[in-house]
Amino acid sequence: MRFPVGAAICGVLILLMATGCSGKEENPPVILEEQQVISAQEFSPPALLATLSQQEEPVEIPAAAWGIEGTLTELSETTATCAVPMPVGSKLPVLTLDPPADRTEVEIFAGDQSLWQGTLEELEAGEWQPPAGSTVELVVEAYWQQSEEETMQASYLLAVELEAPLEEQNTPEPESVEPQPVEHSVSQADPPQQQEQEDAQQKEEPSAQPVTLSSDSIQAGRMVVIRYEGVPEEYPTIETNLGFTPVFFEDEGGLTAYLPVNNGSEPGEYQIIVRWSDGQVELPLTVTDGGFEVEIITMDQEVADSTINSSSANAEFETVTRPLKNQSDDEQYWSGPFVMPVAMDPVRTSSSFGYTRLINGVADRHNGVDFPVAKGTPVTAPNNGRVLYAGYLQLTGNTVCIEHGFGLKSWYYHMDSLSCSTGDFLETGDPIGAVGSTGYSTGPHLHFALSVNNVYIDPFQLMNQDLS
Ligand SMILES: [Zn+2]
Repeated sequence: MRFPVGAAICGVLILLMATGCSGKEENPPVILEEQQVISAQEFSPPALLATLSQQEEPVEIPAAAWGIEGTLTELSETTATCAVPMPVGSKLPVLTLDPPADRTEVEIFAGDQSLWQGTLEELEAGEWQPPAGSTVELVVEAYWQQSEEETMQASYLLAVELEAPLEEQNTPEPESVEPQPVEHSVSQADPPQQQEQEDAQQKEEPSAQPVTLSSDSIQAGRMVVIRYEGVPEEYPTIETNLGFTPVFFEDEGGLTAYLPVNNGSEPGEYQIIVRWSDGQVELPLTVTDGGFEVEIITMDQEVADSTINSSSANAEFETVTRPLKNQSDDEQYWSGPFVMPVAMDPVRTSSSFGYTRLINGVADRHNGVDFPVAKGTPVTAPNNGRVLYAGYLQLTGNTVCIEHGFGLKSWYYHMDSLSCSTGDFLETGDPIGAVGSTGYSTGPHLHFALSVNNVYIDPFQLMNQDLS
């Protein structure tokens, strides 16, 4: 969290906390955490009005929500923060002060990077447009000239969340997804020019080789299915330069292996080498940018200190989850696209997969998606699988991990209660638990993640596409 330089001498120092993971309600919930009033001369900084482009009426962020109370010294400085969730496709809110300030200075940040400087008027004129799917921080300094000697100043700090990239918002209703026939040699996600390249490559190499990839071009943070036709006595081995060694499992007259591409992988050309008893093939794989951005989240320091900043909480999580990540069942329980683990219409996320989140200034990669739904909302199995773990962890609260076969796993954090046990076999729709806010969380939401062993992938890949 960044405060204007002058905050150290200010009359009022106010910290407000937005419910980071769940802050998508129309009236952003804010909690006054700390307040100190030092002096006593009358000055009430005005409320800042934010007009959201997809809403007809301006949304007033009242003085109380900004945490401004009491009175200030003659050179007044306040620091107030508030998170405003923005619908997809929104422009930045138009910010209005009433009475208007004599002078304003606005600076927009993404993390520590300053993106733009100007005034409220210039912002309103559209001189800066936010990049899609980003979270930015606006620092507004406003000055009112009271007299020749007296200047009143108020500082506002506004975190604007522009929600998730469009592709993640467009998740179809699970029921409407037609299961695709099992066909791994043609990627459903490839743009046409990549498909042409693949066709050309296949023309150059007419000799039939038994290995196919579900796609020869993949975004970082997604997985590729490697298929070997036939079941030889000795299984082929796979080598990659992606920091992961896929393993084949028998499946429908052939062998199947999953290759997850870490969300931190640099875009570029990589190789997959498959070796069998009397042959081998080297397949190129193009990794493209995952489009991951930076989000800024403020949370209660006490919650952070007892979870993400706690070495014992992290050690417990590692001790429990590391052995789970190394396991792979040799049966593929899952089939068809994954469905939503919570009922939501439309599907929304309050935090996206793969984004770097600056939480109270500490960077953390988000390895799942957050669905902002009410406490108590039933959580159900998005596909068939075996419960590897169901229990309480200091870091992630009530936690469940399900093995779906061949090393593919789903993860559920922060639940209020659990309704499955370690060892249970679950079918799609069977109860897992209820949404809560336990562990590293500041508001009710479901953290949902998919991984292939220890590498997390974007859950929306397997919700939008049938790779089974
Ligand atoms: Zn999360």
